[in-house]
Amino acid sequence: MNKIYEKLQNELKNLKKITNCEVFGKSELGSDLLSFTLGNGDDNVVLVQGGIHAREYITSFLCVELVKYLSNFAINGKVVVVPLMNPDGLRICLCGGNFIKDKKKRKIIKNILKKSDKKFFKANANGVDLNVNFDCFWGQGIKNTKIMPSAENYIGKRPNSEREVKSLISLTKKVRPKVTLSFHSKGKVFYYGFFGQSKDTLKRQEEYIKIIEQENNYMPIFTKNSAGGYKDYCLMKLNIVGFTIEVGDERISHPIGLVHLKEIFRENKDIVLKLLKKGKEECKTL
Ligand SMILES: [Zn+2]
Repeated sequence: MNKIYEKLQNELKNLKKITNCEVFGKSELGSDLLSFTLGNGDDNVVLVQGGIHAREYITSFLCVELVKYLSNFAINGKVVVVPLMNPDGLRICLCGGNFIKDKKKRKIIKNILKKSDKKFFKANANGVDLNVNFDCFWGQGIKNTKIMPSAENYIGKRPNSEREVKSLISLTKKVRPKVTLSFHSKGKVFYYGFFGQSKDTLKRQEEYIKIIEQENNYMPIFTKNSAGGYKDYCLMKLNIVGFTIEVGDERISHPIGLVHLKEIFRENKDIVLKLLKKGKEECKTL
């Protein structure tokens, strides 16, 4: 087994000892999808997710560090953290496709890995890029690939077709966050907005953009030419403000190594606390 994969599994196991862990869904290969909850209450919730793109596993480790860090504070509301949204994809990216028992899926993945190095793999075990599979202008992004399973950008057979996507939507509907943060790599930028977003989120996102920018010093960019992502779905279908935060310097090549974790954590560690503080103020004025 791969060392990074093992390390993450151990980290997740250890997190279960310090906070409330739930299995909120399953991956296409039947792995548990785990969420970790800190704090309580339903009126001021932040949902954080990482690792939806396999090669961006640095974001899973970032989420683990965030849970550990946040467990030191009295949380002013509730934080739900999903460190690893795409466990099958991560295993493929680190170990290749031999472990896949399902013959059809194994063939799909082996074909993909003939054409591209496993370390650049972003998709799930069906070769679907989970962050273009959500039902919000599905298939209309510039880079969307419509025909074949692939290491990246394949939208899947139908919107919301993948178990991981369905599970994350159910979790989001259940916990009703005010804000969602999706960690990706790379570029030290963060994406906000969506051409299909609700009017309500347009107004509410302004203050949050300022908070994130002040904390991590990344450049805010309005989302253009991309569709079918989780934060797009939150903005368009669920009336929830969402951001995609791209961690790590653009000059570092994929996948970003764990040597960069400390710096990335330092830049992003306090965003959730600041968003919760802002959320609490809003609750009082309602
Ligand atoms: Zn990504």
